[in-house]
Amino acid sequence: RAKSAGGNRFELADEEADARAITRHGLTTALPTALERGEFFIEYQPLVHLGDGSVRGAEALVRWLHPQHGVLGPDRFIPLAEHTGLIVPLGRWVLEESVRQARVWRERHSDTGPMRINVNLSPCQLSHPGLVQDTVEILERTGVRPDALCLEVTESALIGADDDLLKPLRRLAEMGVDIALDDFGTGYSNLANLRRLPVSVLKLDRSFTQSMQQFPADPVDLKIVEGIVTLAHSLDLTVTVEGVETGAQAEQLRILGCDTAQGWYYARPGPPDRLHELALVDATA
Ligand code: C2E
Ligand code: MG
Ligand code: MG
Ligand code: MG
Repeated sequence: RAKSAGGNRFELADEEADARAITRHGLTTALPTALERGEFFIEYQPLVHLGDGSVRGAEALVRWLHPQHGVLGPDRFIPLAEHTGLIVPLGRWVLEESVRQARVWRERHSDTGPMRINVNLSPCQLSHPGLVQDTVEILERTGVRPDALCLEVTESALIGADDDLLKPLRRLAEMGVDIALDDFGTGYSNLANLRRLPVSVLKLDRSFTQSMQQFPADPVDLKIVEGIVTLAHSLDLTVTVEGVETGAQAEQLRILGCDTAQGWYYARPGPPDRLHELALVDATA
């Protein structure tokens, strides 16, 4: 675009780049105080069983209520927090806060079965030596069982991971914590590699869900998803699909054998009480 527009567009592009850099710098320096001041909050998005439509749990998604910029999504600040190391205390806060929330749901919905909580882990948290200890302490403090917790790690974070990096995940998996491979299918998925990883859930990336949008869906994509699901199930893994926006997608993915779904079709990420409502509607339906 800048190319065809001539000289002053370049200046404009420069100014925009400057403005972005200033914001980035400003956000980076504001991160530690933001954590102290309680400017972060968590939205929860329900995880729905494709077979019977019941709410089985939720994924915790962090947001920052910035005093000047309003609500910022994780893509705006997680990379900065990773860069500065703040991701470790921030991630610990997200874990404790959302596990606490799972405990509240469980108390209020003992009749709707176990409510599970999914929490995203960044690669920096994986290589931080306190991960296992912090998780154990949080579970003990909140009285939540390890098998109600699922930690999501992206496929790219585990690409070429050596044993040192996998060790804490193995420890957690042995305790009963589920490990999910997030955004599966976007990286250099080496399917054989799956056997080496202590994962029990595959989260199929949104790009697959998107290709189920057209009718009829791309036959090659259908085959790929079918193949992934078959392989996953034969390895005793559960398959969750991300980004389900329409009923048609949900139906297609259910037919292909996916187990759980998440997406705007069911609910956008929202405050914890929304999940109470969704689960209650579900229980009385
Ligand atoms: P993710 O873990 O893959 O989370 C799913 C993202 O897809 C979320 O974006 C969610 O809001 C969005 N989404 C859900 N349903 C739909 C849908 O139907 N259509 C579309 N178009 N999008 C949908 P969000 O909340 O902006 O989070 C982005 C990423 O930030 C997450 O991707 C995750 O990698 C990261 N993240 C979020 N919270 C945390 C956290 O506490 N710690 C760390 N380390 N990363 C986090
Ligand atoms: Mg995730
Ligand atoms: Mg994901
Ligand atoms: Mg994703």
